[in-house]
Amino acid sequence: MSNPILPGNKNTLPPRAIMDLPPWQDENSWAQINSFFSYSCRDKHLEEPVRQAAVIVRKITFVDKLLENLCDATCQSCAEPCCQRATIWYDFVDLLFSYLQHKKLPPQQIVRRRGKSCPLLTSQGCVLPRIERPFICTWYVCPAQNALIEQAEKGSEIQKVYSYLREIQSARKLLEDAFTAAVVG
Ligand code: SF4
Ligand code: SF4
Repeated sequence: MSNPILPGNKNTLPPRAIMDLPPWQDENSWAQINSFFSYSCRDKHLEEPVRQAAVIVRKITFVDKLLENLCDATCQSCAEPCCQRATIWYDFVDLLFSYLQHKKLPPQQIVRRRGKSCPLLTSQGCVLPRIERPFICTWYVCPAQNALIEQAEKGSEIQKVYSYLREIQSARKLLEDAFTAAVVG
């Protein structure tokens, strides 16, 4: 699956991300991915993917508090806000996660126009609650925040942020595998 591109991410992205275009940008392809989920999920035993999605909700809700503390300490004085520079989009697992929670997808793909900020950025920050953002927006820890993590007390919750993020990443893989097993059999 494609990965969004964020500059300067400590959690590095595979090189192929540079070549991929964001998927499902136009109305037709968005309608197709909607149909894919509604068709694939019809009459399927989705208990395990739904359980896995609930695990991810809990983990993101937990890590949100730590990440918001980091943002409070860094974002207001940031000279180059990442949401102005980043090209992000919903990948397949983001959409699966969303569909299993709400039985529908977000209204459209996130498409950043050339030279513009992410369309979901407002003067108050991101318009979406963290749980509804592409995971890359949670996965990304900028250098200023990384410095705070490294300076934090050994063994403190903030020092465990990367391990919590890796747990979410692993849970996303389990979610995708559980979904594939449920729909392919
Ligand atoms: S997360 Fe980092 S790069 Fe993004 S706005 Fe905050 S301080 Fe700036
Ligand atoms: S979705 Fe929200 S957090 Fe992610 S880049 Fe856009 S404004 Fe920033």
